[in-house]
Amino acid sequence: MTAQIISGTEIRKAILGEIKEEVDQMKEKHGKVPGLVTILVGSSPASISYVTLKVKTAISLGFHEIQDDQPEDISEKELLALIDKYNNDPDIHGILVQLPLPKHIDDKKVLNAINPDKDVDAFHPVNVGRLMIGGDEVKFLPCTPAGIQEMIVRSGTETSGAEVVVVGRSNIVGKPIAMMMAQKGVGANATVTIVHTRTKDLASHCKRADILIVAAGVPDLVKPEWIKPGATVIDVGVNRVGMNEQTGKAILKGDVDFDAAKEIAGKITPVPGGVGPMTIAMLMKNTLRSAKLSLGMS
Ligand code: NAD
Repeated sequence: MTAQIISGTEIRKAILGEIKEEVDQMKEKHGKVPGLVTILVGSSPASISYVTLKVKTAISLGFHEIQDDQPEDISEKELLALIDKYNNDPDIHGILVQLPLPKHIDDKKVLNAINPDKDVDAFHPVNVGRLMIGGDEVKFLPCTPAGIQEMIVRSGTETSGAEVVVVGRSNIVGKPIAMMMAQKGVGANATVTIVHTRTKDLASHCKRADILIVAAGVPDLVKPEWIKPGATVIDVGVNRVGMNEQTGKAILKGDVDFDAAKEIAGKITPVPGGVGPMTIAMLMKNTLRSAKLSLGMS
């Protein structure tokens, strides 16, 4: 039987619709809208395209959006002063610094200077700590793991008591999603295993998974015979494996052999069109949450 495809594109559309409704209500009741500043240093084409998409999405939702572009040679001190300005701006609820930053600037120092209550990327150590504690402590979840959890929940996958195997232990995907799935709460309460490059028998762990989350960055790493029949497979990997000569666009592949895996899995995310589109929606959701918290709304 062919698996149900979990479409990130469709789920993103639904989430953005829900956010727009809440923004409209906030404006009506409180005369306020969520405010997001995107700080772009330099002119890397990839960074420009990421920032443009974030800005466009924020504007389409009715956010107050500031695109603050800075020259490549801005000093670290000047950038820190800019962050301080937005930390103290009551109309700004989310501060996003597009990475990577130029070599003369310490990324960590800049990210750690963002007020944790405006850190909508949730990379600040305070938000990482809050995620670890769980429950009411959590203000924002990191966007890609939050998108993964949302897809699991909205696809109707049972997580309570489920065996979850996470391939990869990065700070932005593997570690946070593993912790989130192990917490108490909706879309969680799972039994979680993290596997990585030093794991002895990757296949045997993957075969046990009711929910298999793969974030390794290795095309076709997960073979169809590693998938438990009926499992939910979330493929986070985005690997450029060539170039489409007609469109001039990169050919993308995930970490799972999709065509074969979809004949065994119960539910599966495609690449592209799976986890990728979710990240930006969760960034917008975090900014809305920050605005709601600042207005004393739950
Ligand atoms: P990373 O390189 O920081 O971490 C990869 C992890 O996978 C490491 O912990 C490593 O131990 C593990 N790993 C690598 N090869 C392995 C192997 N052969 N066997 C077992 N474990 C292995 O990567 P990341 O930032 O977590 O990203 C992972 C993938 O997800 C990349 O393809 C990235 O492009 C993609 N990604 C997508 C999104 C999105 O769609 N929004 C966001 C973040 C990352």
